[in-house]
Amino acid sequence: MAEHAHLIIVDSQSTHYPNRNTVTDILTDNFGRRHTYLRISLTERCNLRCTYCMPAEGVELSPREAILTFEEIERLATLFVEAGVRKIRLTGGEPLVRRDVEKLAERLAAIGPLESLAITTNGILLDRKGAALRDAGVDSLNISLDTFRPDRFFRITRRRGLERVLASIESALELGFDPVKVNCVVMRGINDDELTDFVAYTESMPVQVRFIEYMPFSGNGWNDAQFVSYSEMMIAIEDRYGPLTALQNGANDTTRSFKVAGWAGSIGFITSMSDHFCGTCNRLRLTADGNLKVCLFGAGEISLRDSMRTGATNSELKVLIDAAVKRKAAHHAGMYELADADDRPMILIGG
Ligand code: SAM
Ligand code: SF4
Repeated sequence: MAEHAHLIIVDSQSTHYPNRNTVTDILTDNFGRRHTYLRISLTERCNLRCTYCMPAEGVELSPREAILTFEEIERLATLFVEAGVRKIRLTGGEPLVRRDVEKLAERLAAIGPLESLAITTNGILLDRKGAALRDAGVDSLNISLDTFRPDRFFRITRRRGLERVLASIESALELGFDPVKVNCVVMRGINDDELTDFVAYTESMPVQVRFIEYMPFSGNGWNDAQFVSYSEMMIAIEDRYGPLTALQNGANDTTRSFKVAGWAGSIGFITSMSDHFCGTCNRLRLTADGNLKVCLFGAGEISLRDSMRTGATNSELKVLIDAAVKRKAAHHAGMYELADADDRPMILIGG
């Protein structure tokens, strides 16, 4: 019976929505991938201006009324959990700049069978909000950090704040978030000489440092000269530390994990560009302005906000979600094609 709990029976009355009279698992696509992980962007705003994420000229923000309200987010989150989502991650923009984020987290954490509520943050506001988020039911945190050097931090993020981010990582561990991951986008000539410093950080810090291959997004100035592949990173790290111990990865993990034997933390690589993991992708994204995006690198989006605001019932929303999921491609384009594509900048997607 539990096997069938995610089957949705769609009613057959309306003429405005496609695929009536279908009985379908709305979160499974045509390649058999079940999408159990929803990433919700809470805002397009940010208190940093990372060069790889936000175009130099900034982004045009949606008007306030275009952004999903907490009630709309909760409605959609509930619907997705009913359909089979078990993990939600709040992201952005910077999710902690959204007022009362801890109140939303509490409402989401209370949704029935949800198993994990996570946040990806730049850490700047975590000293103020960490305890409240933990109490609200957030269990794990990814904190972004690309350098240990203040001058570089300023160059990469166009703001100051390195000390606050480092303090946030420590306080996240003290507060008991588990896991605490540190996201580091590796760029040649910018921070690639700090790879081994990040590995050294895991000697005493029980975090997973995740090296992310630099991805092209609209307006981020990506060029292949700055791209450092997983295999190149691995060579540099093993050159310094010797062979790493490979760790077991989960079925839907996007990270290849390793550790230096005996050290407190571990490291991982997110190889979206050199070796994509689309075959096991279980993620869906909801943008801050209410669009469902079935692939981080796909321009195809549908507005669940507009449907909700014009009176769609939950059954009708599920039909729309089903149709979008069924349109998901087998895999995303290669990095050179993506570099020429005209999609949203990362800050407007929600990483
Ligand atoms: N503001 C939060 C933060 O920075 O953690 C959450 C949003 S941010 C868009 C989510 C993640 O995407 C961050 O870890 C960031 O480093 C990563 N990211 C942004 N642009 C990227 C790019 N061009 N290539 C790889 N990762 C990127
Ligand atoms: Fe802001 Fe995160 Fe993008 Fe940096 S990566 S500009 S912190 S949203």
